[in-house]
Amino acid sequence: MPPIISVQQLTKTYGNGFEALKGVDLDIERGEILALLGPNGAGKTTLISIVCGIVNPTGGKVLVDGHDVVKDFRRTRSLIGLVPQELTTDQFETVWNTVSFSRGVYGKKPNPALIEKILRELSLWKKKDNMLRELSGGMKRRVLIAKALSHEPEVLFLDEPTAGVDVSLRRDMWEVVKRLREEGVTIILTTHYIEEAEEIADRVGVINGGKLLLLQEKTALMKQFGRKQLKLDLT
Ligand code: ATP
Repeated sequence: MPPIISVQQLTKTYGNGFEALKGVDLDIERGEILALLGPNGAGKTTLISIVCGIVNPTGGKVLVDGHDVVKDFRRTRSLIGLVPQELTTDQFETVWNTVSFSRGVYGKKPNPALIEKILRELSLWKKKDNMLRELSGGMKRRVLIAKALSHEPEVLFLDEPTAGVDVSLRRDMWEVVKRLREEGVTIILTTHYIEEAEEIADRVGVINGGKLLLLQEKTALMKQFGRKQLKLDLT
């Protein structure tokens, strides 16, 4: 079976001439958890945004399940769920409405049983009638994950899901991610934390200055860099 996502010689130069991606190649296998580790400005969000069809590449291409993200945007977008870095959701809407409306945005028929299942799995069921503004930061992040899962995507991108989250919530989030993978969802997450990449990912990509170094196994991460050096380079 071909990889669920294939990134080929991808480049991105922004309008101001800044080269954010300088020829990235990456195949993502079905059912894996891939962590993209890198410092601020490395190009992680740019890469995710192109794969999700939000930003156009300058060169190269991305295939999602064999379909080109630029030419066949509607099809590829429906296969992907994106959990963005920023909490952009309407704070005066309820949890239930936020997640159900998100499904509608993808043109999918209402499915209250599915929304209930997602909310229960993310421990949001008791909060379903609460407005987002009444939730803690950790709970709001869970709502963003629930939203991204509402249209039953095959691939879930999480852009720095644990940035600014305390240790216990971070571990909580890791459990959620592992459980989703057990259900067959392919997961790509970006992070600044080497511990996070080590804890939950099957493979790790180190991205820096718009280039990607892909490490097939996590142990290679430590062998190649050593914890101390990676911390110095990436934080
Ligand atoms: P962070 O960890 O801080 O989120 P990142 O690895 O996700 O960083 P990107 O957001 O992809 O990095 O940014 C990569 C580079 O591209 C940065 O130097 C950023 O300033 C630049 N950049 C991003 N968006 C634009 C834009 N719209 N116009 C010009 N430059 C941009």
